[in-house]
Amino acid sequence: MTDVKRNTIRALIAEATPKIGRFEASILLAHIIEKPKEYLIAHDEAELEDSAVMTFDLYVSMRVDGMPVPYLTGKQEFFGRHFVVDENVLIPRPDTEVLIEQALIVTPKNPRVIDLGTGSGCIAITIAKECPGADVTATDFSERALDIAKKNAENLDAKIRFLQGSWWNAVPNDETFDLILSNPPYIRSDDEHLANLQYEPQTALTDGANGLTCLETIAHDALARLNQGGWLLVEHGWDQGPDVAALFRQAGLAAVRTVKDYGGNDRVTMGRKA
Ligand code: GLN
Repeated sequence: MTDVKRNTIRALIAEATPKIGRFEASILLAHIIEKPKEYLIAHDEAELEDSAVMTFDLYVSMRVDGMPVPYLTGKQEFFGRHFVVDENVLIPRPDTEVLIEQALIVTPKNPRVIDLGTGSGCIAITIAKECPGADVTATDFSERALDIAKKNAENLDAKIRFLQGSWWNAVPNDETFDLILSNPPYIRSDDEHLANLQYEPQTALTDGANGLTCLETIAHDALARLNQGGWLLVEHGWDQGPDVAALFRQAGLAAVRTVKDYGGNDRVTMGRKA
């Protein structure tokens, strides 16, 4: 009660800025009061209710502890659409948009598509939306991830078939595809970056080994699972391009190439069934 001014938008943002920066403070506060970010600037003298102030304080402290903003707001934008996220799914990354762009370049008309390890569903759903004739299947080992992916498909009005299971085990033996897409867990178990990603599901980030085991599993069956002329596209780590290209060639794929992300790092490798 002593400081009556603490509950204005201006004061709350000013107080949080040294801790988490103005940008994130604004995203969190706008989310809490269910207004667009522009509202905060136009109404910076508005006084907020105690419950909003308390929630903001809590979110700021969680953010300071390392909780990613999308887990606090429950959403993340990917390829221009909002996806619901929670701690059961990886937060969609801009890097993965490169995989979408390449897939859209090589796709035939009305493709049969599979997204292995769909997580939030961002790859499968984006392809379904960008490629209206596509017949899209998405798999995940995690039931909880599939629940989120299904929610996103419903919210974004995308028709997807969801299958539960590990990589190819989820898919009936006789099915083949024009596009096989995946952003599998590819971080090495001893990679120091994992420590900064402790809030995301570890099984979505690392294979618990050298980072290549899931990529190898996916590539291994790709030839048997691709239609003639079909493509396999996977995301991988910045230093895994040559290894993944070698796995693709061993698996019998042709026209193998690696594409960089917008940070200039090798990020996506693709190969075709000739
Ligand atoms: N396909 C999802 C994504 O790209 C999930 C990937 C994962 O969990 N490794 O965000």
